[in-house]
Amino acid sequence: MPADRPTAGDDRPVLPRAGSRLPSAGYRSGMELAWAAAGLAAGAPIGAALRGTVFRLSVPPGGPPRTTCPHCAGPVPRWLPLRCRSCRGRLAVPLVLELATAAVLALLLGRFGGQPAMVAFCYLGALGVTLAAIDISVQRLPDALMLPAYPALIALLALAALTGHHAGALVRALAGCVVLAAAYLVLGLLRPGQLGGGDIKLAGLAGLALGWLGWPALLAGAALGFVLSAVVSLGLLAARRITLRSQICFGPFLLGGALLAALAIG
Ligand SMILES: [Zn+2]
Repeated sequence: MPADRPTAGDDRPVLPRAGSRLPSAGYRSGMELAWAAAGLAAGAPIGAALRGTVFRLSVPPGGPPRTTCPHCAGPVPRWLPLRCRSCRGRLAVPLVLELATAAVLALLLGRFGGQPAMVAFCYLGALGVTLAAIDISVQRLPDALMLPAYPALIALLALAALTGHHAGALVRALAGCVVLAAAYLVLGLLRPGQLGGGDIKLAGLAGLALGWLGWPALLAGAALGFVLSAVVSLGLLAARRITLRSQICFGPFLLGGALLAALAIG
């Protein structure tokens, strides 16, 4: 059929999409931009504040948190500077955490700004950047960050359920947590060495947020983590940066898949 021929449905009145409560698309995109700008502005200082946590917990499994400069063993402050104040040795890579946190919070607030669960999602977003940085650095996801995140995230979602009257979403979030953690546990048992205990605990946290958004988001988030991991692994193999026997950390892919699913489907 030629593109310019009118079809039977062309004279139908344009109905607002179900669930759309805002007056116009222009107003809506303006609000999304304003929320995204707020996320960018807040993300940079939050990323800088996370640098100290990433430095302290980027240690091998079982090791005590780092509190001293790796070059001169001088003490480092909680708010970590880029260079050691005693020996001027570099303690952190400039801008990485600031830019990553600003980007994640801008995306999340641009999508969920003004919704009851936005604080919960932003909390998990900032925590996710911290966990991904540590996992990339030392291939571990510390319990010190993940275990307290369970009650914190559940409390934030419960608050969102109370303020937004979303009791069903809260129940689904808790179910999503159990389902995703159990699925990763089974995968971990089937393929030992591929997924660690940290990945299973992280899957539970991602399951809370994705479950809140719905079962399609949960399914997409779980699948996208593996897709991202496969794509990046193939790229690294092609570039000869890893071999078939190399182990790469899975946490950043799990988190990246959850973020993509939340933005696309949530
Ligand atoms: Zn030093």
